[in-house]
Amino acid sequence: MFNALVLNKKEDQKATGNVETIKLSDLPEGDTLVNIKYSTLNYKDSLALTSLSPIIKDYPMVPGIDFSGEIEESLNEKFKVGDKVVLNGYGVGEKYWGGMSQKAKVKGDWLVKLPEKLSLKQAMAIGTAGYTAMLCVLALEKNGVTPEDGEILVTGATGGVGSVAITLLTKLGYHVVASSGRPEHSNYLKLLGAKRIIDRKELSQKGRPLAKECWAGAIDSVGSYTLANVCAATKYKGIVVACGLAQGFDLPATVMPFILRGVSLVGIDSVYCPLKDRIEAWERLSTDLNLEHLEKMTSVIPIQDVMIASKNMIEGKSYGRIVIDVNS
Ligand code: NDP
Repeated sequence: MFNALVLNKKEDQKATGNVETIKLSDLPEGDTLVNIKYSTLNYKDSLALTSLSPIIKDYPMVPGIDFSGEIEESLNEKFKVGDKVVLNGYGVGEKYWGGMSQKAKVKGDWLVKLPEKLSLKQAMAIGTAGYTAMLCVLALEKNGVTPEDGEILVTGATGGVGSVAITLLTKLGYHVVASSGRPEHSNYLKLLGAKRIIDRKELSQKGRPLAKECWAGAIDSVGSYTLANVCAATKYKGIVVACGLAQGFDLPATVMPFILRGVSLVGIDSVYCPLKDRIEAWERLSTDLNLEHLEKMTSVIPIQDVMIASKNMIEGKSYGRIVIDVNS
């Protein structure tokens, strides 16, 4: 028997979540049983938990799109009992029972062995948001953006993706500008390495097709007008990496930045990202992330507090990363 957060939903009503005791035999099929230590609260989890978006396909559902833990049993030859692993995405917490639980059964092929330098707690302080931030930084690098090229803009700066992106870019020598709607967190953003902070209102309204060339590159977790304005103000041949929709999933842009300035828009998906790219991202996180900064951006909550924390996240009241201690 073990505990898990279980979401139930009736027809048109909002989902309700309760911590329930579950039998091992109730777990869905999977070749690998993981003893979970930590999960996290990501924006997508919050959309699911608050029923704002139809992320979850079937109820009852154990939410949680990521987790870290130790292998308890596996038919997958890549793993042995006790191996430390991390899981991000693959529909876990959406289609398959997820990480907000003390145990999960999944396909072993979905798991990444945790790099030795990271603890299970640090792995989930990073979580899907931080792993996605790393994928975004890798996309800038692979498209040739170097620290010498100029300023890199990070939008949604106080959020999970934004916070990890800022500290990663800073450690790699980039000059980071943070866009945030919360001036009360300016010191936090500067501590992570942001050289300058701009008010997100400068980007969130309809703008011109082309604006003054400011950014050598950008990581955007906000979408909508913000992403359109970021593209419009990106320098000749600059790279904009888009991964999120905190403002909206629309993209009211023109083609002008792409056809007159050769700007490239690169999309990032963490959910079905190929294994080799995941392994690269986790290895780079283990060497390139400032772990003191990670600690400062992380708060830990018990599983009982997840429902209220998800509401706070959607209302823009939380910042940084929220780790869920599933055993507390
Ligand atoms: P968080 O909630 O931690 O951060 C989102 C940030 O966006 C907030 O902190 C806030 O930053 C900003 N924001 C919130 N609402 C608005 C708004 N209405 N307009 C403009 N800015 C806003 O979420 P995450 O960092 O975990 O995720 C960010 C986005 O990335 C989400 O849309 C998420 O779904 C997406 N994502 C996508 C992935 C992928 O695979 N493509 C993987 C992981 C996340 P501030 O107050 O500083 O402005």
